Amino acid sequence: MTSLQQNYRNVLARIGQAEAAAHRSAGSVKLVAVGKTFPAADIREVYAVGCRDFGENYIQEWYEKTGRLADLPGIVWHIIGDVQSNKTKYVAERAHWVHTIGRLKTAQRLSAQRPPEMPPLQVCIEVNIAAEPNKHGVAPEEAVALACEAAKLPNLTVRGLMCVAKEGSSEEQLRQQFGKMQQLLADLNAAGVAADVLSMGMSADMDIAVECGATHVRVGSAVFGRRNYG
Ligand SMILES: *Cc1c(COP(=O)(O)O)cnc(C)c1O
Repeated sequence: MTSLQQNYRNVLARIGQAEAAAHRSAGSVKLVAVGKTFPAADIREVYAVGCRDFGENYIQEWYEKTGRLADLPGIVWHIIGDVQSNKTKYVAERAHWVHTIGRLKTAQRLSAQRPPEMPPLQVCIEVNIAAEPNKHGVAPEEAVALACEAAKLPNLTVRGLMCVAKEGSSEEQLRQQFGKMQQLLADLNAAGVAADVLSMGMSADMDIAVECGATHVRVGSAVFGRRNYG
């Protein structure tokens, strides 16, 4: 087994422990392995030991990787970075999930550009949960309204909500932010959108995210190692 494959197994075990500690069923949390800045060969290694869900931030980098990895059946691509208007077409044609819908216009373009023969694009609304300036995502109080509007679009399925916790948060602050996400998901369900996904938790805070109800954790460095942005 390679070191990346061992890392992947270790992260799965860590998620399993967090599930058990929170009295959640084993396998209820999906690991999305975030490969940004890492080559397609690294993704292939982790795929070989069973990983199928991969997250990418940068559309051009991701698109090139999809070409190199087109021979891998069942691979599921999650876009977890900002999708600018001039990139929506690539995403609509090749992604399975977009976790980072922050405005209606992006959702509208993705729905319009989704090829009709493909299943609906699975999307989450990105919430700027700690109301940080200059951070992507809608304000918490606008999340339900945006999700309800996006849910009306024909070629998208609104699955839930996503956040990146504020950097440097204490455990207590993380629990506050993730707990607020859980409440927003309940609000969204009460508003009539049957959403079931909370995409939250990264290498440093996945354990607390699982404790607070995350269904998808997005884990980069704990699987692939330290990123070098060169
Ligand atoms: C990079 C990134 C991750 C993974 O971060 P790690 O700390 O490396 O696990 C998760 N979510 C988003 C939105 C990211 O940009």
